[in-house]
Amino acid sequence: MKTIALRIDVDTYRGTGRGVPRLCEILKKHGVKGTFYFSVGPDNMGRHLWRLLKPSFLWKMLRTNAAGLYGPEIVLMGTAWPGPKIGKRFHSVIRDTMEAGHEIGFHAWDHHKAQAKLMSMSEAEMADEISRGLSFLAGLTGGIVRTSAAPGWRTNARLLEVKMRYPFEYNSDCRGTHPFYPVVNGKRLDQLQIPVTLPTYDEALGRDSVTDANYNDHQIGLLTEERPNVLTIHAEAEGGKCAEMFDVYLDRVKQLGYEIIPLGELARRVKDSAPDGAMELREFPGREGVLAVQK
Ligand SMILES: [Zn+2]
Repeated sequence: MKTIALRIDVDTYRGTGRGVPRLCEILKKHGVKGTFYFSVGPDNMGRHLWRLLKPSFLWKMLRTNAAGLYGPEIVLMGTAWPGPKIGKRFHSVIRDTMEAGHEIGFHAWDHHKAQAKLMSMSEAEMADEISRGLSFLAGLTGGIVRTSAAPGWRTNARLLEVKMRYPFEYNSDCRGTHPFYPVVNGKRLDQLQIPVTLPTYDEALGRDSVTDANYNDHQIGLLTEERPNVLTIHAEAEGGKCAEMFDVYLDRVKQLGYEIIPLGELARRVKDSAPDGAMELREFPGREGVLAVQK
């Protein structure tokens, strides 16, 4: 089995406006389809950067060159004025992505808020965040949003249960090794969970001597034929300064015989055989704070 399920996270205004069209071009060139998870509300990611202004985060900024990755305006976005509403400004980008044959998923209404606070919100507040974003996205796509992905892999049992109120067929909310049905409070939820199995660019860079020069070698070295690989790229990174590198990556994995598919296709293939499982919150290499990891 040589499979890579491709997930594209879109977190910001700039990532949507510039990164998504560029990624769509690259994917078209290779004849590849993926799953785009959009954030459609205000872009307050600048607030996110200020909040994390502490030594370990500064180190990460230096390590990954965040201004180069996200652009200089990210540092101000959402700090002095309300962030722009991404979906309203770039609805045509989202529609074009869908019309190019990619799968459209729900990432967030307000990515910054969701990443920082979603897990500690009341269930009504969680539902409000999801409903706002999802209704916008559903309106835009004609209602075919079957999947969601929690920002920053911040997920807990309550959030999984709230998601059950929505017509998601599968979600990608955690890190791990293989798709599973989460068991929460003794009850098996029937929204399949598709964990991300590979590191992201910003997690891998600067660790274990990984640089831009050997990044693709490192990523390819982590692929397995034992089970499906699930890769997350970011519109802000692989649709920006890492675009050429990602283009080369696609060439190389295709030459190695890997098939690249959207998460929905992986879900369709494994939904009848996936086991039950659980996730826990813990620290994760290259990330700030805790995130959901398959047990
Ligand atoms: Zn994200």
